[in-house]
Amino acid sequence: MRKICLVLIDGLRNDTARTECGFLAASVEAGSARAWVMRACLPTISAPLYETIHSGLAPVDHGLLSNEAIRPSPHPNVFSVLKGAGRSTAVVAHSYFHTLYGGSSFDPFEHVEINDPEAPIPIARYYSLEGYNKANPALLSEVDLCAQAWQIAKSASPDYLLLHSSSCDTLGHGYSADSPEYRIQAWKVDNALSRLIPRLKSLGYDVLVTADHGMNADGHHAGDEPCLRDVPFIVFSDTFRAKPDEVLDQWIIAPTILDLLGVEPPPSMTRRSP
Ligand SMILES: [Zn+2]
Repeated sequence: MRKICLVLIDGLRNDTARTECGFLAASVEAGSARAWVMRACLPTISAPLYETIHSGLAPVDHGLLSNEAIRPSPHPNVFSVLKGAGRSTAVVAHSYFHTLYGGSSFDPFEHVEINDPEAPIPIARYYSLEGYNKANPALLSEVDLCAQAWQIAKSASPDYLLLHSSSCDTLGHGYSADSPEYRIQAWKVDNALSRLIPRLKSLGYDVLVTADHGMNADGHHAGDEPCLRDVPFIVFSDTFRAKPDEVLDQWIIAPTILDLLGVEPPPSMTRRSP
């Protein structure tokens, strides 16, 4: 049975992914992956777009329009639909995902590691990034995140595995998108993925790589600029179909994941994959 890993690289703009991520580019050049431009929804803010990516609804439709307004998702989403279908999910992600889909507000002492078949997301490894700033960016090692995802895939083989990396966003805020720190971090993520994705493929996973939003030269994101809205959508899957030059909308991700897993998307996911 097909399994899906979504790699969500927070704050990675499309042009930076194309120029800095050599492994992903090599995979496209060799034909083992295909790349599209995806247009992020507005506002280009993380929590609203996490919800878009997992509910298939634009922020103006799902109602979460600010990180500060984050709340448990009231909408059918990839995690709840798969649980209802008897399929398994797992995440390695920022704590916002616990607040959205994990069933309670996030307490790092209770939720940093979850292994509970009854939980909304039965296997989870969360990080908080509490206290980070420019002087102390509190970056997590990308290969450590990838290794956590691999351990989960190898031991539990969840149908849907989310790997969410925050480091490009963190350095983009600290140094701006027009900085060696941001560009080199994009490569560091790519370098870790070069060791994870082939392993996931060997287990039968299809892998989707994308971002929630981009980053601008002010070290900010929220509005409507190409550098904020254009993000990569790189697909390691033979079954995903879209025209090669089509600009994809971000709300197709949730129904696409369910389609690839053979689960009927709920009626709320009206914007279907192409
Ligand atoms: Zn950010």
